[in-house]
Amino acid sequence: AKKPHVVILGAGYAGMMAANQLQKKLGTDRAHITLVNKHDYHYQTTWLHEPAAGTMHHDKARVEIRKVLNPAKINIVQDTVEQVKTEEKQVVLKNGDHLSYDYLTIALGSIAETFGAEGVYEHSYHKWTLDGARELKDQIEFQFAQYRNQKETEEKDLTFVVAGGGFTGIEFIGELTERVPELCEQYDVPREKVRMYVIEAAPTALPGFDPELVEYAMNLLEHRGVEFKINKPISEVQEGKVILKDGEEIAASTVIWATGVRGHPIIEDAGIEANRGRVKVESDLRAPGHEDVFVIGDCSLIINEETERPFPPTAQIAMQQGVKAGENITNLIMGGSPTKFEPEILGTLASLGGKEAMGTVKTRKMYGRSALFMKHMSDNRYLLKLGGLSLMLTKGRNPL
Ligand code: FAD
Repeated sequence: AKKPHVVILGAGYAGMMAANQLQKKLGTDRAHITLVNKHDYHYQTTWLHEPAAGTMHHDKARVEIRKVLNPAKINIVQDTVEQVKTEEKQVVLKNGDHLSYDYLTIALGSIAETFGAEGVYEHSYHKWTLDGARELKDQIEFQFAQYRNQKETEEKDLTFVVAGGGFTGIEFIGELTERVPELCEQYDVPREKVRMYVIEAAPTALPGFDPELVEYAMNLLEHRGVEFKINKPISEVQEGKVILKDGEEIAASTVIWATGVRGHPIIEDAGIEANRGRVKVESDLRAPGHEDVFVIGDCSLIINEETERPFPPTAQIAMQQGVKAGENITNLIMGGSPTKFEPEILGTLASLGGKEAMGTVKTRKMYGRSALFMKHMSDNRYLLKLGGLSLMLTKGRNPL
């Protein structure tokens, strides 16, 4: 009989873990496996605030896919997915190729959610990708480098606005506060010329975090010069400024968008039912009405049975879903049945720049160095799973 073709789209946390599972569980005599990704590397999305602020070299945050997956077992295709045709069971790639699949796993991650604000895609740094991080880092440095070379300086030149005081926005501003003193010194810019804002639409920064942790993070960041504007939705981003719903305008040459994500647009284009681009998957991670399509990571939506609300999209869940999708596809190919995905939330830890972090591990609140230690240990655990000890030693974090 013809061997089934398993196609995975996207080599983020979800796609890499799915490929890793399939490579372990399914012999090449059982199935053909193809992984399609835009780049020949996998990057650590959860680290991108660091290269974006310039506190980490971007190469540290990426891994060559061929070094961690076995090309003898998995056909690794570097290309951009343009379309998924579920009726024809085909994937259309940018180079014109059509890949036919028997089982598809969509793990293409997310794009910025704008919540109706205008000008976001045109006038803000909204791409949380490796390319996006590099571009933002250069922009920040450019603003400092040009400052002393202008006839007239304006406040907007060194004003950095982070839209969104959630996990990503807070982690980014934390890094930026660490980088700014260094840049001021390097480019002879007085520190008081630099302004940093976090603008949040919700009644609190870091919604979903314990209020004590939120206070800890905000105090620390305010101490480092961050100004918070809470309960202030943004209605528009224009060249050189943001406009709030209440009419206030903040002049800023650099606006960083981090208000949350929606699933990759390919999902909606494929005619798979989605909510903000995310597919509310069945308990076995398949898309409703599509027996041969698994959707995992930020493209998927699963409900927390305790709160009856969706889990926020995280790397933590994406990785676990990757493993489960790999197992379930193996089961289906071997004549078994897929099983239920049950997320195990180990904790949530946000870095705040330097040696600072905060969050919860299980139900325990953690602050400062010990929180950062736990976060780095969990980063290292992922690298160990993905590429063994050698990957952990070359790309891992020094937890101390
Ligand atoms: P991704 O990791 O984004 O991977 C998607 C992959 O698909 C990428 O490799 C991309 O190149 C590829 N791709 C996209 N489009 C195409 C295309 N058309 N064709 C081919 N390939 C394509 N979560 C946590 O749990 N803990 C944290 O501490 C944390 N910190 C974060 C910090 C920041 C700054 C950000 C931005 C996010 C953070 N998150 C964190 C969230 C987490 O990063 C995401 O939930 C996670 O990356 C989702 O994994 P994924 O595999 O679905 O997508």
